[in-house]
Parts: sequence; structure tokens; C-alpha cells
Amino acid sequence: MIMENGDDKNCCVKVAVHVRPLIGDERLQGCKDCVTVVPGKPQVQIGTHYFTFDHVYGSTGSPSSAMFEECVAPLVDGLFQGYNATVLAYGQTGSGKTYTMGTGSKDGCQTGLIPEVMNALFNKIDSLKHQAEFQLRVSFIEILKEEVRDLLDPASAGKVENGNGHAGKVTVPGKPPVQIREGSNGVITLAGSTEVYVSSQKEMAACLEQGSFSRATGSTNMNNQSSRSHAIFTITLEQMRKLDPLSTTDGVPMEDVTDDYLCAKLHLVDLAGSERAKRTGSDGLRFKEGVHINRGLLALGNVISALGDEKKRKEGAHVPYRDSKLTRLLQDSLGGNSRTFMIACISPADINAEETLNTLKYANRAR
Ligand code: ADP
Ligand code: MG
Repeated sequence: MIMENGDDKNCCVKVAVHVRPLIGDERLQGCKDCVTVVPGKPQVQIGTHYFTFDHVYGSTGSPSSAMFEECVAPLVDGLFQGYNATVLAYGQTGSGKTYTMGTGSKDGCQTGLIPEVMNALFNKIDSLKHQAEFQLRVSFIEILKEEVRDLLDPASAGKVENGNGHAGKVTVPGKPPVQIREGSNGVITLAGSTEVYVSSQKEMAACLEQGSFSRATGSTNMNNQSSRSHAIFTITLEQMRKLDPLSTTDGVPMEDVTDDYLCAKLHLVDLAGSERAKRTGSDGLRFKEGVHINRGLLALGNVISALGDEKKRKEGAHVPYRDSKLTRLLQDSLGGNSRTFMIACISPADINAEETLNTLKYANRAR
């Protein structure tokens, strides 16, 4: 028996595993379930390996509500106190990242963490509206081959169909690429991407829907809706407090909140498939994309493990944010005062055992 990790570490990154059920394709192929959730513990077993995380969500029941309550709701609350946060879904293509995050386009029927975030956000704003004025805006971008693409660009809202019946990309000639910029205050902004001010849950849901639809997809041997890009849905909350010395926010007395104005953002990230490029068995072009995707995921792994290493952090060790567009964009929302939640999505099928093990090892490094 191999225990991949021991005691709980005190860390700024929370990690959960989400094991989806066997899906139709896997059943048809006669796959066996090779992942066991250890009862009563946040532990999974695969072969002789045991991994312990902050939480493990199995394939029964409706884990997204429990996951939301336990892992994401505190991040939404933190936004109202000015803390940035990031939620990351990691895993091989087909492991359930998009399903878990809710970044799929499903004919207006939205399920997953992002719709739950929206719900909680608007409920909370409603309950606090006598204390403060709120303004919300969203952006939705993807990073593909180290290039940032605006998924809410009104100019690319129209779709073209390619021969396979898949929606193709519309490139707008002359439109400058989106650029990641760092302000003197350390705040990261996206120059040239659409930010939509939203005043209702319906408007925010429409942005999610539009961007999900516009997200680039490509065919590989593994899954013809394979996502080779990182999709990042960002919600920015600005608040102007109405001055009332007796009011409190979440039990935090007003005098402990130094600013009348607070601004914080929450990134909800559906990462690119973590499978190795060789397994897609594709041409040279696709392989190049694989290499670029790995650059983002590799940099993310390095950043998160640097943040999780308390000793290194105290010594002010270098955190390699600049190694990829993904980590650069998330720089002000990973580490520091911000809160991070990573969901490692895995398939229980025996044919995926090697990638599942890789995912669990990657997630384990983040703790
Ligand atoms: P990924 O985004 O990681 O490539 P998807 O979210 O597209 O994976 O999921 C792959 C397939 O598995 C989809 O058909 C999806 O509906 C299904 N699926 C994923 N997670 C679950 C779940 N928890 N319960 C049932 N089906 C799921
Ligand atoms: Mg996906």
C-alpha cells in the first residue's frame, strides 16, 4: 500500500477530487470501475495507491451542491470582504471538468458550480443591498496555444459551421489580441477583452451561455469535443458601502473594514485536458497545441506547489507566475490573500487508470 500523503497540511489551496460515474461509452466498452472512495474519509484508492484530499466527491448523489457549499460558497463570501479567489477544474478530457464547472452549453439549462455561484451571489447582494451598492461585471476568455481569445466578443457571436457540423471559429481581421497587463498596484487586467456589466442573474447566465457556445473545440482521437483550451469565466464584484457605523458584514464589524470601496474577482477556470499529447495520436499541429497546453498546466502546478510550500513562502521564494499566460492572468488571484480551490476530476474507468493516477499526483502536489 502506498500512502501518497500523510497529515493535513496548513495550506492556502484547498483540493477536492470529483469522481464521475462510468459513462455510456465506457460501459459499452466493458470498462471496470477501478477507483474506490474510502468510506468516511476524504480518500481515494486506485490500485495500491491511496490519496487523501480536503474532500472527495463520489459518483453517487448530486455532489455539485455539497461541493459548492463546502468549497466554493466560502470563496463567494470572501468576495464581499475583498478577497480574490480562483476555482480550477483539472483533469483529462472526458473526466467531467465542464460538467462540474457548468461551462458547457446545454440549451439554456445550466447546471454545475458556476450557476450555483451566480445564485449565491445574487442572493447575497439582495440581502446586503441596504448596506452597500454593488456592481458586477463578467468576462469570459479562453487561452489556446498561449493566445487569449475573448469569448464574449460581440463581433464573433455569429457562428460558422464547418464540414463536420461543429461550430467553427470566426476570426475578426484586424482585431488586436487580448493582452494581459499588470498595474502598478499589482492588479492584473485584460486589455481588449469584453467586460459585460450585469444587473441580474439572467444577464450573467446569458454571458455564460454565449461564451460557452463560442468556446473553441477540436476533434482528437479521444473525444471530438476535446477541449484544448483553458476557459476562464471571471466575475468582478465592486461595492460602495453606505456609511452606517452600526452595520456589519458577515459578522465583521464595520470598523474592521477599512475601505468604503471594495473590489474583488472570482475566476472560474475550466482547464485544458491534462492528458499527454502523445495519447491524442494526432498530427504535428495538434501536438504543438499539446505542448502549449502543458505549458499552462505545468506552470500552474509549479505556482501552486510553490504557494503550498510554507517554508519556501516564508523565505519569499520565487513563484513562477510569468511562465505561462494562464498563471500570469491568475497572478493576483492565486496566493497572497486570495483563496484557491482545485477540483481534480477523474473517470473511474480502468482504461483511464494511467491518466487518473497522473491527475491524482498533480492534485496531490497542490496540497
Ligand atoms: P471534460 O470537460 O473534462 O472533457 P465533460 O464535463 O465534458 O468532461 O464530461 C464528459 C462526459 O461525462 C459528458 O458526457 C458528461 O455529461 C459526463 N459526465 C461528467 N461528469 C458527470 C457526472 N458527475 N455525472 C454524470 N455524467 C457526467
Ligand atoms: Mg470540457
